[in-house]
Amino acid sequence: MFRSLAIRHIHLARSLATHAAPPARSAAQITRNDWTKEEIQAIYDTPLLDLIFRSASVHREHNDPSKVQLCTLMNIKTGGCSEDCSYCSQSSRYSTPTTASRLVDIQPVLEAARKAKENGSTRFCMGAAWRDLAGRKRGFEKILEMVSEVRGMGMEVCTTLGMLSPEQARRLKEAGLTAYNHNLDTSREFYPKVITTRSYDERLDTITAVRDAGISVCSGGILGLGESDADRVGLIHEVSNMPEHPESFPVNALVPIPGTPLEGNDPVSVHILVRTIATARIAMPKTIIRLAAGRNTLSESEQAMCFMAGANAVFTGEQMLTTPCSPWDEDKAMMGRWGLDGMRSFEQVSVAKKEGERLQLEEFAATSNGATSPI
Ligand code: SF4
Repeated sequence: MFRSLAIRHIHLARSLATHAAPPARSAAQITRNDWTKEEIQAIYDTPLLDLIFRSASVHREHNDPSKVQLCTLMNIKTGGCSEDCSYCSQSSRYSTPTTASRLVDIQPVLEAARKAKENGSTRFCMGAAWRDLAGRKRGFEKILEMVSEVRGMGMEVCTTLGMLSPEQARRLKEAGLTAYNHNLDTSREFYPKVITTRSYDERLDTITAVRDAGISVCSGGILGLGESDADRVGLIHEVSNMPEHPESFPVNALVPIPGTPLEGNDPVSVHILVRTIATARIAMPKTIIRLAAGRNTLSESEQAMCFMAGANAVFTGEQMLTTPCSPWDEDKAMMGRWGLDGMRSFEQVSVAKKEGERLQLEEFAATSNGATSPI
């Protein structure tokens, strides 16, 4: 795990150089953002084993298939949210087992991040249950400090705080934020059946603000909301046609929560999960595809099938935002059995590019001191 920064600097420089001048065919595939829905639907409809073979080939062409990013999530402000996302236990509109709490203090967050890092996680994500940051000036300042401290540990740091203005995105970037999560959840057409308190376009506006601030975008969906195949295709169509592919595409399987409108939904089948991952991998060859909520309901061989199809990140640790998570030791043992290894921080070239100068300055400072970095 421990590599000298000088060596990593060379790796980074090589990666950036590779990214700057890739072969023409790969560049076209990586940056393609003119997919039609029909093309994506045709990929999605491919017989499943052929689809997995194809997506595994694309994955191997563009990524190291032995690498899986370990991320840890922490809920820094639970429940009491004014939004009506019909899958969410944190909405104040539903009577669920989740109890609302205030924004946590900085120290417990730093302890959790340290623990995540010691256990091999290289990305730490903090989630707050609210619509946006309006009227939360002091809370936002506290979060900026959390971001800065966690980034100072050498980890990738991500937040999910609801809708953002361009100015808020700029301040998060300044504090050292690596990525911002804002899921589209589903297709534009199905979205109003799931959420009514904010529009699809409002979500896209936040994603634009994040991208424009130079922060990596993490935006994906939830399967099992009651959506159709066409809606899953619609979601992939939407994200793969953004001006830049999101650096991260989380795929969640609904964990039905008692008290929410979707409490009685049937679990999504593993075939649909794998089909969605494989289609996303083909449409967005370099994006990290993140197995998120619901992973603990999959068997080990089902998870391996997801990795084969192109998934290359998992949430691991003690807890997702409100649902269970597989613990580090189990995940590391599983990865060992399948020949998988954890990614280093900033190993994804497009994320490292957005970090740019900051990474190089850190590396320069550490190299000048003869220090080594645990990333
Ligand atoms: S998903 Fe987020 S925005 Fe929606 S109700 Fe839950 S906490 Fe609020």
